[in-house]
Amino acid sequence: MRLRSTRGAPAVSLEEALVQGLAPDGGLYVPESLPSFSPDDFDDDDARSIAMRYLTPFFAGTRLADSIDAIVAETFSFPLPLVDLSQTVNAPLSVLELFHGPTAAFKDVGARFLAACLSRLDAEVDDPRPLTILVATSGDTGGAVAAAFHGRPGIDVVVLFPEGRVSPRQQHQLCCWGDNVTSLSVAGGFDDCQALVKAAFTDPTLSTQYRFSSANSINIGRLLPQSVYYAVASTQYLHKHGERLSFAIPTGNLGNALAAVLARAAGLPIGDILLVTNANRTVPDYFATGQYAGRASIATLASAMDVGDPSNMERLRDLFGEAEALRALGLDAVSVDDTEIREQIRRDAARFDFAWCPHSATAMYAWERHLDDAARAAPWAVVATAHPAKFETIVEPLIDATVPVPPALADLLERPAAFSRITPSLDALAEALS
Ligand SMILES: *Cc1c(COP(=O)(O)O)cnc(C)c1O
Repeated sequence: MRLRSTRGAPAVSLEEALVQGLAPDGGLYVPESLPSFSPDDFDDDDARSIAMRYLTPFFAGTRLADSIDAIVAETFSFPLPLVDLSQTVNAPLSVLELFHGPTAAFKDVGARFLAACLSRLDAEVDDPRPLTILVATSGDTGGAVAAAFHGRPGIDVVVLFPEGRVSPRQQHQLCCWGDNVTSLSVAGGFDDCQALVKAAFTDPTLSTQYRFSSANSINIGRLLPQSVYYAVASTQYLHKHGERLSFAIPTGNLGNALAAVLARAAGLPIGDILLVTNANRTVPDYFATGQYAGRASIATLASAMDVGDPSNMERLRDLFGEAEALRALGLDAVSVDDTEIREQIRRDAARFDFAWCPHSATAMYAWERHLDDAARAAPWAVVATAHPAKFETIVEPLIDATVPVPPALADLLERPAAFSRITPSLDALAEALS
């Protein structure tokens, strides 16, 4: 299967799209066509065989085709369970828990898939310079990427994060790797980190000295594997209950939600898809008015969703059309603000034996307060994107209890952490790289 740019550049193979990240015309890579499955194609419930079946058409004819088995095993090395909540809420509700990976957020899936693919492709490159993955992060991405590439021979990772603007545990996850991972605390905001990465890519000296690549969310390799957990959850649900499962998805840059839309369009038994943003209302406003207006982001409790101009909107609109057409596909979008996030975390800690992270809380709020009784009579899954222990400074005061730390996260917190501070300048970055 070939991938074309949203802006018209010629189609390339999956290998090329993975290595390039962004298309040469500044567009994003999207599949030229989607596989067309029927639910009967997925006749067993085994997650890895569903993953293989879903991903195989994308790898057809590529040098990675013989390695899909190993790539799938490396990517999906932790459970992605669909947990039934129907007894407690008296409606067919489940939670899709995507936080059992090494850094306790769903971004582990995309990062591990990209690392599995790029490390194989890079092993064939004849160049003494190591591949240097530059990644700017507002919190979760950097940890997932560092974890996924840590210890991979011939690849270095440089993580840039905004000083003082990530949670203490997030910062630890960004800085506890050593070896081939360098962690840089940048005196500035996330935008400064991102600008620095872009500047390094286009700087004639640095981009000759180093072989840069990026692992940010525009890479199609972050998106493709995320469709797999929707394929698995919806297939297993169909086999068990004979019905399509709908999803309420915490949404920032729209990578996670777009993966669900792709899986649905490829024929998986998925019902409606509700995109839930925090107080950054760009996407809900677009669904309400039909006019797209990107804007600056505002800071919220669900900080990994603080996006004012989501880059994956370009893919969504290119592939599926404008608001009216998107609505006809069963998509809708709503916004949940900080007061509502706090309210949901507080209330649910009392009735469930777990707490939501601030991101996941938006989706639960939307299911409970934005859907009517008729909609809630159909089966839904609220997507839980991170473990609450990652955001304990927000969650614990609200629930007045300690959130138990999952084992993978506890392991990371045991490791020593180290980072260097830099100013947001290319000179400072060049010196830190040398
Ligand atoms: C990144 C992130 C999101 C937003 O996902 P997108 O793919 O950017 O829409 C939501 N929740 C958590 C915990 C995240 O880390």
